[in-house]
Amino acid sequence: MRDLNKILSGNLGYPRIGREREWKKAIEAFWSGKIDEEELHGRLGEIRRNHLKLQQAQGIDLIPVGDFSYYDQVLDTAVMFGLVPERFEYSGGPVPLTTYYAIARGSKTAAASEMTKWFNTNYHYIVPELEGREPELTANVPLSYYREAKAELGIEGKPVLLGLYTFLKLSKGASNRLQEWVHKLLPLYVQVLRELQQEGAAWVQVDEPALVTSVSDEDVKLVQEIYETISREVPGLSILLQSYFDAVERYEQIVALPVKGIGLDFVHGKEGNLQALRQFGFPSDKTLAAGVVDGRNIWRTDLSETGQLLNEILALTSSSADLIIQPSCSLLHVPVSAKAETGLPTVLHKALAFAEEKLEEVSALCQAAKTGSTPALFAMNSDALKLLSADPSRSRKQVQDAVLTISRQPSERSSEFVRRRLKQQAKWNLPLLPTTTIGSFPQTAEVRAARQKWRKGEWSAERYDEFIRAEIQKWITIQEEIGLDVLVHGEFERTDMVEFFGEKLPGFAFTRGGWVQSYGTRCVKPPLIYGDVEFDQPMTVKETAFAQSLSSKPVKGMLTGPVTILNWSFVRSDVSRETVAYQIALALRQEVEALEKAGITMIQVDEPALREGFPLKPKDRDRYLDWAVKAFKISISTVQETTQVHTHMCYCEFHDMLGSIQALDADVISIETSRSHGELIQSFEEHTYPLGIGLGVYDIHSPRVPSEEEMVSMIRRALQVLDPELFWINPDCGLKTRGQEETVAALKNMVGAAERSRQAL
Ligand code: GLN
Ligand code: ZN
Repeated sequence: MRDLNKILSGNLGYPRIGREREWKKAIEAFWSGKIDEEELHGRLGEIRRNHLKLQQAQGIDLIPVGDFSYYDQVLDTAVMFGLVPERFEYSGGPVPLTTYYAIARGSKTAAASEMTKWFNTNYHYIVPELEGREPELTANVPLSYYREAKAELGIEGKPVLLGLYTFLKLSKGASNRLQEWVHKLLPLYVQVLRELQQEGAAWVQVDEPALVTSVSDEDVKLVQEIYETISREVPGLSILLQSYFDAVERYEQIVALPVKGIGLDFVHGKEGNLQALRQFGFPSDKTLAAGVVDGRNIWRTDLSETGQLLNEILALTSSSADLIIQPSCSLLHVPVSAKAETGLPTVLHKALAFAEEKLEEVSALCQAAKTGSTPALFAMNSDALKLLSADPSRSRKQVQDAVLTISRQPSERSSEFVRRRLKQQAKWNLPLLPTTTIGSFPQTAEVRAARQKWRKGEWSAERYDEFIRAEIQKWITIQEEIGLDVLVHGEFERTDMVEFFGEKLPGFAFTRGGWVQSYGTRCVKPPLIYGDVEFDQPMTVKETAFAQSLSSKPVKGMLTGPVTILNWSFVRSDVSRETVAYQIALALRQEVEALEKAGITMIQVDEPALREGFPLKPKDRDRYLDWAVKAFKISISTVQETTQVHTHMCYCEFHDMLGSIQALDADVISIETSRSHGELIQSFEEHTYPLGIGLGVYDIHSPRVPSEEEMVSMIRRALQVLDPELFWINPDCGLKTRGQEETVAALKNMVGAAERSRQAL
C-alpha cells in the first residue's frame, strides 16, 4: 500500500508579472526614475510574498522560491556567478541593480547582451556571455528567497535553480569549452546548494530543460559528472532534477543520476516519457515529480483523464517513494488568473485555467490521488469542457470538410516559378533590384490616440476611417517622393499583426488580462483560438484598394500568415495544430482572393513566426515544417500566375531550414539580416536560392539612419552569393516603431543605394 502522505502537490514557478502587471509597472517606474531602488525592492517584495501566500492558500505542498526575478531567471543565474560581460563596469562582489539592468537593456556605453527564445516558448532570456571574467559567487539568491519565505511567511519553500548543464548550453562562448566551464562553475553550484542545505532546505529544484533536446554521449558524461559531484559534496540534499517541454532524452541514464527526484513532463513529453517509464521502470529509491497539468496552455484540465494517467504513473513507481503532482513546467508561460475574464462568453470563460486555476487543479488531483474521492472540481471541469466542445463554434461543418479535403491534396500554384516570373516581369516591368518596404510605417502617437478614441466610441467609425485614409494618403505620397518601386499602405489600422486578423475572424477571442511575459517587462496578450476559424468578410481590402487607387505603382496587400497567427496564439487542444493552421490558411485564402478581385495582385503573407513552432527534438522537425509550409501554400495557392506572392520572415536561425523557406514557393521573400548578415550570406553560399529574395539592408531596431555607402556594401556582399535578377532591396522589418523623419531619411538612402548598385551591375 502506498503511504498517502507521500503524495505531494508541487509547483515549478509562478508568473511574476502579477494580476494587473504590477511587476512590469514597478520596474518601468524605476527605469524612468519615478521610484527609487528601495521602493522597487519594496514593491517587488510585496508581489513576491503575495504569490507565495496564494500558492500556500491553494494547498500546494512544494512552493517554489527563487523563481522570482527582477527581469529574467537566466540573467539572474549569470549575475549570481558574477558573469558580467567585460564591457560593463564591474569589479566583483554583488552586482548592482543598474549593472543588472544594463546587461539586459544596454547602457550609454555598452550594448545589451543578446536575447533569445527560451526553448520552444515565446519567453526570451538574456544570453549569458562567458568570455573574460572568472566566475565568483556574488550572492546566494535562492538562499535569500528561501530565508524570506520561511522567516516572513512560515513557508518551507523549494528553492529553484537553473541547472549547470542547461545554463552552459544556453550561454555564449561555452560550446567547445563545456568541460572547462563545468569545472569553473561546479564549485560555486556546490556552495549554493551546501548553504541551502545548512539552512534546512528539504527539496531543491534544479531545472535542466536542456535534457529534452539532443544530448550527446559526451554531454551525458558531463551531466553525470555534475550530479555525481554534487551528491558527493552535498550528501543528503534532496535534489529534484527537473525537465520540461518534452520527453527527456537518455531516460535510463537520467533516472540513474544520483539525485533524489526526477521531474518529467507528462503533457508535452507524454508519449516519450510514459513509454520510457513503462519500458524501463523508475528507480525505487527516487521520487517522481509528474507534470500532468499543462503549463503552456490556458484550458482546463480533463481531471478524470489526468487522474487515470496518474493512476498509471502511481502503479509504475514504487509505493514506498514520494510522488509529486505538479504542472508540466513553470507557470510563467500562462497568464495569472482567469477570474476577471467575465467579458468572454460564459462557455469560454468557464473553460479557462490560468496559473491560479491550474494550481487548483494540481491540488484537486493530489487530493483525489490521496483519498480516492473526486473533488467538485472534477465535475466542474468536465462540464465546462463538454459545454465548450458542444459549442456551435466548434462545429463549423464547412471549414472542417474543407480542411479534410485540402489536407489530402497538394497545394501547388498553377505554374512554376520560372514561368510565373516571366509573366510577372512582363506585367510589372520593375527595375533590377526593386525597392520596397516590409509593410508598416510609423505608428505615431496620433495614430494610437485616434484608435483609442474610436475604440472608446468618442470617434465614429467614419471619422476613424477618414483618419486612416489620410495617413495612407500621406505615406503614399512620401513613398512616391522617395522613389520606392513597390509601395505599401502602411498598416495604420492595425495594432498588432495577429490581433488585427483575430478580431475579424470567427473562432478567436480576446481576454481582458491574459498577459504573459515575453521578455523583460514586455508582456503579450495572445489571442485565444477556441473555435473553428472561418472567413467572415474582407479584412484588408478597403485600405489596400484605397492605397492602390492613389498610385500607379503597385501597392502590396499585407496579410499575416497562418503559421504566425497560430504560433502567437493560445490554441484549442481538441484538434491538432495542423488542423487549426489549415483552417486559418483557408480563411486567409479567401482574403487573398478578395484582394485579387479588388485588383491587388502583389500580396505579402508574413510568416515571421514560422520558426517559433519548431519542435525541440530534431526528429519532429520535418513533420512540423511539412504542415507549416503547406499551411502557407494553402493560403496563396489559388492566385493567378501573374499575381506576385511575397512573404517576410524576421531574424531566426535559417541555416537548417532554407529548404523549407524555398518550399514556400513565394515569388519574393524578405528576410531580416542585419543581426547576422555574415552568417546568412554564408548559408546562401552553400544553398543556391532560386526565387526572389530581399535581405534586409538596414536594421530597423535602431533610430540610426544608415548611410548610402553602408547599404551599398551590404548589397554588394549579398550579390556575391545571390542572383541580381532575383534580388530585392528592403529594410529588415516593418517600420512601425520608428519615427517619420528617420524613416524617410533611411529609405531615401536605401533608394540611393539601390540606384548606385544598379549602375555597378
Ligand atoms: N508586415 C509587418 C510589418 O511591417 C511585418 C512585421 C513582422 O515581421 N513582425 O509590421
Ligand atoms: Zn520582420
